[in-house]
Amino acid sequence: MNDKNVDKAEIAKFEALAHRWWDRNGDMKALHDINPLRANFIDGIAKVAGKTLIDVGCGAGILSEAMAQRGATVTGIDMGTEPLDVAKLHLHESDLDIDYQQATAEGFAESLKEKQNQQFDIITCMEMLEHVPEPSSVIQACADLCKPGGDLFFSTINRSPKSYVMAVLGAEYVLKLVPKGTHSYEKLIRPSELASWCREAGLQLKEMAGLEYNPITKQYKLSDNTDVNYMIHVHKPIA
Ligand code: SAH
Repeated sequence: MNDKNVDKAEIAKFEALAHRWWDRNGDMKALHDINPLRANFIDGIAKVAGKTLIDVGCGAGILSEAMAQRGATVTGIDMGTEPLDVAKLHLHESDLDIDYQQATAEGFAESLKEKQNQQFDIITCMEMLEHVPEPSSVIQACADLCKPGGDLFFSTINRSPKSYVMAVLGAEYVLKLVPKGTHSYEKLIRPSELASWCREAGLQLKEMAGLEYNPITKQYKLSDNTDVNYMIHVHKPIA
């Protein structure tokens, strides 16, 4: 198995939390809260119904299920054993059909190398790049997994003084929106870095959107403010 670009300590953090993944008000509440926003963003652009989609670093499948509900044929990959077990179990509850596999983006791309006809229409990779030793390698693998003419969506957290206060101190220690130790500041990713890795992988940046949290209303909304949480849409051109 290709696991060069895997930080085992990061995977272990998510494995330890797996049993609470689908608790709407538990440790993964923030992912549940942002899910409709990101699912609508992706679907609004890529029209997922009837398309093939791979969700890279799918965890227990919060986004994978939302995409399957909207009619995509979904494959979910992750390196965490427990999150994948929880993802598979949850299919009994949601009555959806998703192909979950334990793999890295790099390993999966390698296995499709000679099978271009199995590339995906849409790639999603959300809240995962900041947990990986070399995010650019994941982005290249995602580009390889995508059909020419397909769309890719990445989300992560900006590395800015404001995000240190909001996403690390605020979210983990003050507001307790995510478990302590979830994010290391130095692994967070600036939009300019993400954009340049996408360019290097031959992808075209189409759109960038902020996911802004309002601590008073306790709600997220899409905005132009990419200081903390943000996502991007990139396109793989046809040759
Ligand atoms: N994308 C999901 C889960 C985000 S949590 C969502 O947004 O709802 C981050 C996930 O990335 C965890 O499940 C973790 O196990 C996985 N992960 C971290 N590094 C990985 C790697 N190198 N390859 C595959 N999965 C990885």
